[in-house]
Amino acid sequence: MSPKHDYYETLHVAKAAAQDEIRKSYRKLARKYHPDLNPGDKAAEERFKLVQEAYDVLSDPKKRQMYDQYGFYSENGVPGGGAGPGPPPGPDFGGFDFSEYFQSGAPGAGRRTSAGDTGSTGGFRDIFSQFFKGGAAEQPEPEKGGDLEYGLNIDFWQAIKGSQMRLNITRYDVCGTCNGSGSAGGQTVSCPQCNGTGQVSQMAGAMRFNLTCPKCGGSGKLKNACPTCHGEGRIAHTETVDVRIPPGARNGSRLRVPGKGNAGTMGAPAGDLYINTHVEDHPYFHRDGDDIQIRVPVSVWEAGLGAKIEVPTIDGRTLLKIPQGTQNGQKLRLREKGVFNARTNQRGDQIVEVAIQAPKVQDERTKEILREMAALHPEDPRADLWEKL
Ligand SMILES: [Zn+2]
Ligand SMILES: [Zn+2]
Repeated sequence: MSPKHDYYETLHVAKAAAQDEIRKSYRKLARKYHPDLNPGDKAAEERFKLVQEAYDVLSDPKKRQMYDQYGFYSENGVPGGGAGPGPPPGPDFGGFDFSEYFQSGAPGAGRRTSAGDTGSTGGFRDIFSQFFKGGAAEQPEPEKGGDLEYGLNIDFWQAIKGSQMRLNITRYDVCGTCNGSGSAGGQTVSCPQCNGTGQVSQMAGAMRFNLTCPKCGGSGKLKNACPTCHGEGRIAHTETVDVRIPPGARNGSRLRVPGKGNAGTMGAPAGDLYINTHVEDHPYFHRDGDDIQIRVPVSVWEAGLGAKIEVPTIDGRTLLKIPQGTQNGQKLRLREKGVFNARTNQRGDQIVEVAIQAPKVQDERTKEILREMAALHPEDPRADLWEKL
C-alpha cells in the first residue's frame, strides 16, 4: 500500500489546521499534481495519490482523530497484530506510533509486514468500532428539534369557510425540571466506566491499548442527569394545538405552525409542525382550484324554451338563466360564486353543467305532444355521428 508519510506534511498544513484550510490546500495540490495536467509524469501521479489519501483521512473528523491518536489510519483494521509472535503482554501502548509498528512488523519479531497483506484483524477491528462509537457521540451538541407532520381531515365546508381546529399532537418539549439542560445541577459524578480517568484499557491479541472512554468521551466525568428526562433535556408529551384553517384551504395544502415541532436538545430551537390538510368530498359541489363545479338537472322544456332556475351555490340559492336552446352538457358560468382565495383576494366562479332530463311519459296527452314534436323534427339526431364514423 502507501509508503509511510505524514498526511499533514503531504497537504502542507499544520497539525492544528482547520477543515477549510485543509480543503483549500488539498484543492491547490490536487490541481497541481493532477495526472491530466502532468501526462506521463510518474512522480506527479504518485504525489497526486498521496494527496488524495491524506485528504481522505484528514477531511473526515473520525479518521483524522484516529490518525492523530495512532499515527495511522486503516479501513481494513490493522494487519499483523494477534497472529504470530507479538510483543509481551502488559505494556501500555498509549501514544505508541503504530504506523512505525505496522510498516516494519512487530518490534523484536523480525518479521516484515506491510499494511494490507494479512487479514487476522478481529481484535483490532473490535477496538476501532468501539472507538468510533465513543468519543464524539458521547459529547452531544445542541441540535435543532425535528419537524413534525400531521395529517388533518376537514370537511368541504370547513375548507370553504375556514375554521379553527384543535389538534392533539405528541411532541418532544423542553423538560420543565431541568429547563432543557438535562442536568440535575450540582456537581458532576465520576464516570464509572473509566473510574474518572477518561481512558479505558482494551486488549487486542497480545496487546493492550489505552482508548478514550466511550461513556464520558474522555472527560472522566458525567453530569448528574435530570431524573425527569434522564439527561435528554426534553420529554415527549401530548398537547393540544389550535390550528386556524384559512378560508378556501385546498386539499393537500400544508400549514406550518412555527415552533411546534420537537424541542431542540440543550436549548437549541424547536422544529416546526406541518399540517397536511385532506379535504373531504362533497356529494354535489366539486372543487377545481377556486372554481366550484356542479351538475344541475334541467328539463327538456326549460332547455328548449329558456328559463330562470334556482341553483345551489356555496352561498345558498342563486338564480341562473338557462338560455333558449341550451344543450345537454353545456356549461354556464356564475361569476365570483366560487371559493375565496386569500392570496389573490378574489373568488373563483361556479361552473354549472346542464344535465337535460327526459320527461317520464305516462299519460296519453304527453305522448300526443311528443308525437307531434317528432313530426315537426324529422331530422336524425345521430346524423353527425354517422357522418364522422
Ligand atoms: Zn430534565
Ligand atoms: Zn469515562
